[in-house]
Amino acid sequence: MPNDKKRRGRGAAAKSWRRWRDAGWQWWRADSLAAKWRRWGGFVLLALALFLVFLFLVFRSTGPRYGAVWNEFSGEKALAHVQALVDLGPRPPESAAIKKARGYIRRYLEETGWQVEEQPFTDQTPRGSISFVNLIARRPNQPRHAKYFLLCSHYDTKTFESIRFVGANDGGSSTGALLEMARVLSLHLALAAQIELVFFDGEEAYDTFSATDGLYGSRYFARQISEAKTGKTYRGGILWDMMGDRDLTITLPLDSPADLARDIFAAADALQVRNHFTYFSQDILDDHSPLDAIGIPTIDLIDFDYPPWHTAGDTMDKLSAQSLQTVGAVTLYYLSELAFK
Ligand SMILES: [Zn+2]
Repeated sequence: MPNDKKRRGRGAAAKSWRRWRDAGWQWWRADSLAAKWRRWGGFVLLALALFLVFLFLVFRSTGPRYGAVWNEFSGEKALAHVQALVDLGPRPPESAAIKKARGYIRRYLEETGWQVEEQPFTDQTPRGSISFVNLIARRPNQPRHAKYFLLCSHYDTKTFESIRFVGANDGGSSTGALLEMARVLSLHLALAAQIELVFFDGEEAYDTFSATDGLYGSRYFARQISEAKTGKTYRGGILWDMMGDRDLTITLPLDSPADLARDIFAAADALQVRNHFTYFSQDILDDHSPLDAIGIPTIDLIDFDYPPWHTAGDTMDKLSAQSLQTVGAVTLYYLSELAFK
């Protein structure tokens, strides 16, 4: 008996559904196409418009803010700049070759629309008083309230009396890559407007790194900022150093600002090159140190696992365009997706 009832109930529901369906079908056939459009056309258009707005909002909120700008960084172009610098020979402070390197950097920056400021100074070194020149590049006509992110490299090579040291990786790789970065940024002015490119002179120590030997350029640059009390103008910075080794392992110093390290790892993850990034076993003293010391959080993307370091073997054959591209792309991903959030 209970089963019977259920069957009858189901039969009634099916019948009522068929009735509705037939009535709807007759109504639909009765109206002409034109009449249907007059009646429902407005709703159809509205639904379509709402759907398009929905798609736009979804893609805008999840899509890259400046497009996939990291794909535009060319390791080959960066490597060509490194070659041009290395072709000048050893480039220690005050040498004729470093003056040529400065000219090369300056010309390329100006060609890509950057305004270049020279920051000359002299300092006492173990070899007496030496003249240095930092180069600082910004986009022209920037609003005064702009907050900058620093991208830095040193362009000097270490002074050696006994060997011919051309610094393909140490001094060359990061400088060539920073020039390629200048080109890519010049195609994305909204991003470029928030960035300052700095080429430090005198990174290398004459004897050994100490409070008064080495980091001449970055110490001077940081001192100017701290004396002018303009530190708040900068959100942070990335220093590139020795980033061209074919066998690339970026070894973040242990003292890296934690937020920056986390975001660099995240950027490397996003571009599936996380395997090239790790922590070094200890702090590293480099051009980021004077910036960190005055409260501008700066991270050093350096490959300190480089056997030819400070030897005559630091030559072009140790480098690869791919390594330059990897670090360039990770930095661009970080800048366009994470740095200004
Ligand atoms: Zn060095």
